[in-house]
Parts: sequence; structure tokens; C-alpha cells
Amino acid sequence: MTLTTARLQAILSEITDLARASDSPGKVADYIPELACIDPRQFAIALARPGKPTLVAGDAAVPFSIQSVSKVFMLALALGKMGDRLWARVGREPSGQAFYSMLHLELEKGRPRNPFINAGAIVTTDAVLQGASPSEALGALLRFVRAAANDDDIHMNERVAQSEIATGHRNFALAHYLLSHGNLANTPDLTLGTYFHQCAVEMTAAQLANAGLFLVGGSDAPRLVSPQRIRRINALMMTCGHYDGSGDYAYRVGLPGKSGVGGGILSIVPGVASVAVWSPGLNHYGNSKLGTEAMERFARLTGWSVFGPT
Ligand code: GLN
Repeated sequence: MTLTTARLQAILSEITDLARASDSPGKVADYIPELACIDPRQFAIALARPGKPTLVAGDAAVPFSIQSVSKVFMLALALGKMGDRLWARVGREPSGQAFYSMLHLELEKGRPRNPFINAGAIVTTDAVLQGASPSEALGALLRFVRAAANDDDIHMNERVAQSEIATGHRNFALAHYLLSHGNLANTPDLTLGTYFHQCAVEMTAAQLANAGLFLVGGSDAPRLVSPQRIRRINALMMTCGHYDGSGDYAYRVGLPGKSGVGGGILSIVPGVASVAVWSPGLNHYGNSKLGTEAMERFARLTGWSVFGPT
């Protein structure tokens, strides 16, 4: 379906009005102390299309912690560095478990199910860190997201990173478990220090939508990875990007997506657009509650879904 810019802007405004009228915005991720005090009543949506101006509605100029959405960018870097050798260390199957789960790690001898659950993301970060220092790996990540978004004003929030370093016991347990299985090349402190900083990257919804353009493809999109890799990263986002809520997101929205506990979701309409939503309150999967509802509405109103219109 071809939609005019005016119609798309009206859709974003309608979605924002409905989200702001909701009286159940979900609960913020208070297990990261620095995120506990964020007002759950904020909402933003942004739509980026290759070669066209980015459209926004709501609090789209407020930076938020992208958290696990960063795993998409780190995966692109890891694949750029190692290619398919990465898959010897991490799988490509949905886990059906919470993002912090250790269950499969125990059963599958230290090879995490996919790069988007925490255990898999820790391995991905560890791979990028091999032969580099944390500041080099994080510098490469920042350069990548800034180039993808065409925006140098993207930074990390040191307080959020330190907050997780002080309290991320489960992630330390995962890292030590990976190490015990020979699937960690650096020390847990070094890999997790890097991982927590990558999660602490902050972006506005507009910046995140722009940063997702490299996964849209086409001649006007930033060419940071090959078309084959775009397709594969989108496949992983569709099947694993929302953890044990991935099937539900595919059912309701029908687009590849990656969520973070900061309340951000990046979704890709292949060949067409990159969409970012942000609302800090989470559902029981740890994905943005109003953000998921907004994306469901967005897919319905635009007819944009890889499975056809709803
Ligand atoms: N930094 C968070 C953690 O490791 C990321 C989790 C998430 O966004 N789902 O727990």
C-alpha cells in the first residue's frame, strides 16, 4: 500500500494519542536502579524511510536507554568481524525463555540459543572484544550507530552502565557459566563491562528509527552490511527479537523487531521503512507494553507487515 507522508504523519499522531490515553502503561525495569525512576507515561514513535524526512510524534526528542536494541548493532559488528564463524559460538533458534534465562545454557553446554537473549549477546560482545580493548569495541559500536543514523550526537550514559555493573549479578552468572564452557575469550569483568556500556547507549526515537535504516535495504538506505546479511539479521529479529514474546510480536505485528528493557522497540518494514517506538513501561516479557500495542496498531493502519495486510 502506498501511503502519503500526510497520511503516515496522521497515523503516528493517532497512535500517540491512543497510547497517551492508556491507563495501563506497564511497569518500568526497576531491576536496573538507574532506570527505576523513569516516568512510564512517556511515549514516542518515529518513522524513517530511505531518502525521505523522518516523521515523529510524541516524546521523540527525549533520549532513552536502548538496552537490548543495541544487540542488533553489536551482532552486525560481530558478523562483520567473524562472518559465519560466529555461529559456532551462538545459535539461531528462538529460546522460548526470558531474556535473562540460564536454562538452555545448562542443557546445551554453554552455546546460547541466539544472539538476542543475554547469554548470546554476551558471547557476541565477547567476539567483538577479542583482540580489542573495551574502548575500541565500544568506539566501533558508536561509530556504527552514528554512521547508521547519520548523527554524531549519540552517546552512552555512564550512570546507567555503572548501575548495571553494580547490580547485574545474573549477567555475571551467565558470563561465568559461558567461561566454564570455554565460550568466553575475555574475563567476565571485561566482557560485561563492555556489554553494560553497549546497553547504556541512549538515543531518541527519531535517532533509533534513523539508525535502523541500514536494515531496510534498497539503494537510498545506508549500506553498512550486505543485502544477504540484512535479510538474515531481520530473520533473527523476527524469530528471537522479543525473547519468549517473539511469536506473539510476529502474530500481532508481523514485522522483524528488537526490544529493550528501556522500553524501546526497533521494527523494520523490509524495503520500506524503519520504525522506532518508545514507552518505558514493560509487559511481562520485558518488552514495551504500549510500544507493542502501538506497533500492532501501526501494522494495521499502514497494512505494512511481511505477512500481508491485517
Ligand atoms: N542490560 C539489560 C540486561 O542485561 C538488557 C536486557 C534487555 O534489554 N532485555 O539485563
